[in-house]
Amino acid sequence: MTETFVYLDHSATTPVDERVFAAMKPYFSEVYGNPSSLHRQGQLAEAAVDNARELIAGILGCGTESIFFTACATESNNLVLQGCRLHSPGRYHILSTAVEHASVIEPLRMMQADADIELTLLPLDKGGKATAAGLEGCMGDPPDLVSVIYGNNEIGTINPITQIGAFLREYPSLLHTDAVQTANFLKLRVDDLQVDFLSLSAHKFYGPKGVGILYARDPSTLEPVLLGGGQESGVRPGTHNVPLIVGAATALKLAQDECHSETGRLSPMRDWIIERVIAEIPGAYLTGDPVERLPHHVSFAFADLDSNELLAALDLQGFACSSGSACKVGDPEPSSALLSIGFTEELAKGALRITLGRGTTKKQLGEFVDTLIEVVERLRARETA
Ligand SMILES: *Cc1c(COP(=O)(O)O)cnc(C)c1O
Repeated sequence: MTETFVYLDHSATTPVDERVFAAMKPYFSEVYGNPSSLHRQGQLAEAAVDNARELIAGILGCGTESIFFTACATESNNLVLQGCRLHSPGRYHILSTAVEHASVIEPLRMMQADADIELTLLPLDKGGKATAAGLEGCMGDPPDLVSVIYGNNEIGTINPITQIGAFLREYPSLLHTDAVQTANFLKLRVDDLQVDFLSLSAHKFYGPKGVGILYARDPSTLEPVLLGGGQESGVRPGTHNVPLIVGAATALKLAQDECHSETGRLSPMRDWIIERVIAEIPGAYLTGDPVERLPHHVSFAFADLDSNELLAALDLQGFACSSGSACKVGDPEPSSALLSIGFTEELAKGALRITLGRGTTKKQLGEFVDTLIEVVERLRARETA
């Protein structure tokens, strides 16, 4: 084992920023009341949740009545898809894409068992990007709900959500976007994006794990999926996780304040890796859009390589990366997102995702690319031996 440890998996999760941790800390053991309690301890906790909601509403440019706290973005996505459907029984048409996060794909798959629900998949370009033109072709039967990911976790592509939102204004369709990957880099003003629902997860922007945010322009279009004590206006009952909610708001404020500077710092490093790897490793292909791309996100498909072996070899050298999908050791299924945008099964099995973050330096990336070149050569030589 080497001493090196370089974390290049920021799309999977990020460390909690120390400023966020400091803001959360008092709410574990000093202000520990239940915000629903009437006594002073409860009121202090309630004030913290109210302040967090106001801060987030200010950042997104909406009213506090549109902000809901959940346990994760997986829950936010499920609540939108299932909650909208529950609100509109009878025939229901959903338009989405083949490259959504599993927390959208899986509820859609389940809902397809309902004969009244029709699912249409939006055509995507080679980079996995939805276009307003492709959307136009799907409007013969206007969907009730459109769900399109903003920044793709696996292939890094940024979708033109503003244009999609503008296009949909003429239709009764509601628009949801999973914006989890974009909070560190793109402004999230919901009126600019023209979305009706937006999902976020604090642990993707240097906040704590286990807290999600849901923006719902008109919450009355959403039935609750959980039933209980009526918290969050009944849209999402369950005792508020006060420290995590405080952490989510603090982290979102920092991430959005720093989004332009982080974009400026990381995108040249991203492009540098892409250029070197494509030039120096034969059989390496960039996945996703080369230009409309998250500033921290690099993803490849390698010929004649197995993702899991590559990840294990890189980990031994001290580099933490990902294959980009939920594909785990022992689960050699190729990514359905890569297959859907035209990669062969063989190439899709050689996926590698490198995602940079606040702690990433140019020096680390130089060492990383040198190691990657060496590891790829070694693994391929073994394969043909
Ligand atoms: C991580 C992620 C999620 C899930 O977020 P959790 O809070 O971990 O459930 C959803 N969508 C995208 C795009 C993600 O990257």
